[in-house]
Amino acid sequence: MNPVRVRFAPSPTGSFHIGGARTALYNFLLARQTGGQFILRIEDTDQKRSDPKYQAEIMEALAWLGIRWDEGPEVGGPHAPYNQLARRAIYQEHAEQLIASGHAYACFCTPQRLQQVRESHQKLRQQPHYDGTCRAVPPAEAAARREAEPHVIRFKTPKEGSTTVHDHLRGDITIDNRNIDDYILVKSDGLALYHLAAMVDDHMMGITHVIRGDEWLPSLPLHALIYRASGWTEPVWCHLSVFLKPSGKGKMSKRDVNSEQSIFVLGLRDLGYTPDAILNWIALMGWSYDDKAEFFTLDDLIAKFSLDSLNPIQGRTVTLDDVVQMAGFFFRDDISPAPPDLLPKGLTPETALTALDRSREILASLPNFDHSTTEPAMRALADELGLKPGQLFGLLRAAVTGQTVSPPLFETMEVVGKRRTLARLSQAMGLLEASNY
Ligand code: GLU
Repeated sequence: MNPVRVRFAPSPTGSFHIGGARTALYNFLLARQTGGQFILRIEDTDQKRSDPKYQAEIMEALAWLGIRWDEGPEVGGPHAPYNQLARRAIYQEHAEQLIASGHAYACFCTPQRLQQVRESHQKLRQQPHYDGTCRAVPPAEAAARREAEPHVIRFKTPKEGSTTVHDHLRGDITIDNRNIDDYILVKSDGLALYHLAAMVDDHMMGITHVIRGDEWLPSLPLHALIYRASGWTEPVWCHLSVFLKPSGKGKMSKRDVNSEQSIFVLGLRDLGYTPDAILNWIALMGWSYDDKAEFFTLDDLIAKFSLDSLNPIQGRTVTLDDVVQMAGFFFRDDISPAPPDLLPKGLTPETALTALDRSREILASLPNFDHSTTEPAMRALADELGLKPGQLFGLLRAAVTGQTVSPPLFETMEVVGKRRTLARLSQAMGLLEASNY
């Protein structure tokens, strides 16, 4: 593959969570693998919600994970500045070019009028959209009115036909142009909105692949139209499966604080995770190498990652609630594995009991409990018992986490800690003995 230029473009509007880290990681891996560049761009045009403290957090978390950017804040680069707020003049200039080429127009409608339009659409049970009144203002008249009247700049979406865009993972996506609104590109204060700013930057920064979360899929036709209206070559578009979407269901449980911590990169750091464990975990949320391999260093990931093996369906974690479920075993000791989960394929109650007993014995005797010590010891044990590593690991996973799916096993055991891991192995033995197996 030719060297790519890819970007991670977070809005600094909240704490940095693992879903964002996964997007950054995939971009970074592709850049490293192809000898290309990974760019960090801060999309801070939403002045109300952006806060420099979140930018600092994103940068700290990325650096801690080892995801280093080749261009961006602090390191600079040929397209500096990399904060959008400092690039506002560039977007304004491009908006003027779109007006001049007939692809954008000034809109003078007042908030009151827009409210009436919205209400009339609601009455008709239509999706509210701008009704296009100012599209009809002749350009010379609009130019004169712009001197004196407050206005925004809107994209002039074609009203006939349809738009087809190709997504690398999902194939062609087609939408009827009537369903694409005349979106605002520049607000009345002269500041561009995300849709324009991001596309101008992607083009100017020479981005070859836009790899981002699929919450941006609905905006893709508009983004492609902005590229096409500007006469630019589109990047490869690649929308990742959902990772984290707070479901908003009900109230957060009493594990609130822990669950919050467990979705934020720096929160996980504070819980004692290592960067390797997190990278390994998030890499596998939507990408797999084969069905077996579970442990990857950053170098392995760089060597093995491929856009083509990304998974357009969801990874292991989908909603915030699922994260709490997935990671809850870190915080509670009342985990109770279902006895059948303690019997991965090919194991009998007797062999499972022996394996748990030997694991407990060996793990208790190890000089330390980090994953680089426990993993080889358990692989050797699998060998000794004539089991496949996957069989023994499945058993240990069920015993330690109460689940059949979890973050990487040995890092998990490290975080759970030696004392609690051993106690859980004993508990699993008790469960197996007490069950009718
Ligand atoms: N600033 C957007 C976000 O934080 C980035 C979207 C994109 O990658 O185009 O989600």
